[in-house]
Amino acid sequence: MFTRRSVLSVGAGIAMGSLMEKAMAKADEQTTKRQDFDVVVIGGSFAGQSAAMQLARARRRVLMIDAGKPRNRFAKTSHGFFGFDGKSPQEIVETAHRQLLAYPTAQILNGEVISAEPSESGFQLELADGAVHSAARIVIATGMKDELPNIAGLAERWGVTALHCPYCHGYEVAGRQLGVLGAGPLSVHQAALVADWGPVTLFLQGQTELDADQSALLTARGVKIEPSPVVELLGPAPELEAVRLSDGRTEPLGAMFLAARASFVSDLATRMGCAQEEGPLGPYLKVDDQKMTSVPNVLAAGDVAAPMPNATLASAAGLTAGVSAHQSLIFG
Ligand SMILES: Cc1cc2nc3c(=O)[nH]c(=O)nc-3n(C[C@H](O)[C@H](O)[C@H](O)COP(=O)(O)OP(=O)(O)OC[C@H]3O[C@@H](n4cnc5c(N)ncnc54)[C@H](O)[C@@H]3O)c2cc1C
Repeated sequence: MFTRRSVLSVGAGIAMGSLMEKAMAKADEQTTKRQDFDVVVIGGSFAGQSAAMQLARARRRVLMIDAGKPRNRFAKTSHGFFGFDGKSPQEIVETAHRQLLAYPTAQILNGEVISAEPSESGFQLELADGAVHSAARIVIATGMKDELPNIAGLAERWGVTALHCPYCHGYEVAGRQLGVLGAGPLSVHQAALVADWGPVTLFLQGQTELDADQSALLTARGVKIEPSPVVELLGPAPELEAVRLSDGRTEPLGAMFLAARASFVSDLATRMGCAQEEGPLGPYLKVDDQKMTSVPNVLAAGDVAAPMPNATLASAAGLTAGVSAHQSLIFG
């Protein structure tokens, strides 16, 4: 590797010299960007922020790098998170970041980590802007993304009238005519649940075969079953007024629930070789009780390492990961 001195000694002519100066400036820029941390937390939402907070309070050097796209960013308000019920996802994250930065050993970077490699001191991480950072431990809290079925009008209602979870958003749409989109294996379960928030139709979407037990459950819960698939959501988005079915009929509807498949936002953990589990809605990272992945000194928390998406659960997992990362620095 060239040092500044060795670069100077080989640069002969003026043109070459100026090229070399540029190279040196770039190298210097990289060097000043390079910093060592006890822990780098990748992802700065419910899980990442909760991990970083424990480490900052333990007076460890912690860097939290966040690309700023939490899974719930499509919702106007978040519900059920202790002390923040009804606040916007953005307000919750901004408040949390402000509180983290009150600790002198904590830093936050807006950016995307594009690679994480083992190094002599632990791990070396590269960001999309070229910055490089290193740490003894990393916490992966990069979240998941929802794979919405390709139905006209669905994406623009996601988080407002097209919803993933009745506990998070059912109260706000209670009493309306509700739908459950038969998008996966949890749809029958979801339809039976959602009936506590209003009259429900389960749209089978041609995918869900109902057995006798399922039919009996849905009947007992008063769920109407519609075999004709939904092809379009109607009304001034993000509000929902009705759905159009493949046979041309329209059915009035005020909100649609769906348990969509999810996939990793970032492939960092996969590339590092972290073992995975397969849940009913997609993969997630395998972690032990301390949130350690199968790769030594790599921890994971939040939706990326759990089968059920929930802000409080993600935050609790992040806390565990932060404490575990800290203790592993002491006890190995
Ligand atoms: C529409 C919707 C509404 C929801 N509403 C609620 C609700 O009301 N209540 C509730 O409890 N739950 C709700 N949830 C679930 C909740 O959003 C998740 O459980 C929670 O966001 C998980 O937190 P997390 O920290 O694991 O991941 P996320 O919140 O998804 O955060 C991951 C962060 O990591 C960043 N990131 C990803 N890759 C990289 C990278 N390579 N480098 C740097 N940063 C990276 C992302 O940009 C993001 O900021 C909702 C979900 C959806 C889809």
